[in-house]
Amino acid sequence: MRLLLVEDELEMASALSAALSRYDMILDHAPSLDHALAALANHVHDGIILDRQLPDGDGLSLIPRVRALKSGIPVIVLTARGNVDERVKGLDMGADDYLAKPFAVEELLARLRALMRRSPDIAPMTARIGNLEFDFDSRQARVGDRALELPRRELLVLETLARRQGRTVQRSTLEESVYGYDDEIQSNSLDAHVSRLRRKLLDIGANVEIHSIRGVGYLLRLAL
Ligand code: CA
Repeated sequence: MRLLLVEDELEMASALSAALSRYDMILDHAPSLDHALAALANHVHDGIILDRQLPDGDGLSLIPRVRALKSGIPVIVLTARGNVDERVKGLDMGADDYLAKPFAVEELLARLRALMRRSPDIAPMTARIGNLEFDFDSRQARVGDRALELPRRELLVLETLARRQGRTVQRSTLEESVYGYDDEIQSNSLDAHVSRLRRKLLDIGANVEIHSIRGVGYLLRLAL
């Protein structure tokens, strides 16, 4: 899962980024509206956490532009605690939820999960391909009754492929879901993650395969 935080307080951004990486999530940090627009144009995000007071304007002005780009993406607005006007204005502008600062990362995650459940077209709860089941809520993969334990990057690869099961996922899309903004991408590291993942799927007895389409990307499908 890849989130975009639009917030100019660097301390808060790095704390949240560290907290989310423990949940195997990638956080892109945009310190201004301009940065946010660039990030949205270049990456696919599963949710936006939006502060209002930004150096180049009110965060709420981003919402109509987000909706124009990809209408369903959940937007959570950060507000000052107890400020009812801010909350109401945010919701009026099309935010899906608000969160008072300071907040606990668990609360943020719970609210994101709730928003994603409300829009099943964007994020179905579970993907099933053959005997492989991927639960997007708990972010757990199972084959039959066995849990498949995966390190972060392999989990992110499988999650992205499972979300688009049966469809080819471009290399660039996969790299985006596996690497953050500032990560260095080694040219062959995606393939290395995929081949470890294939081995683990095989070892656990999954009847699915990660099919590679030369020069394009990968596809998760039933094993032929
Ligand atoms: Ca701010």
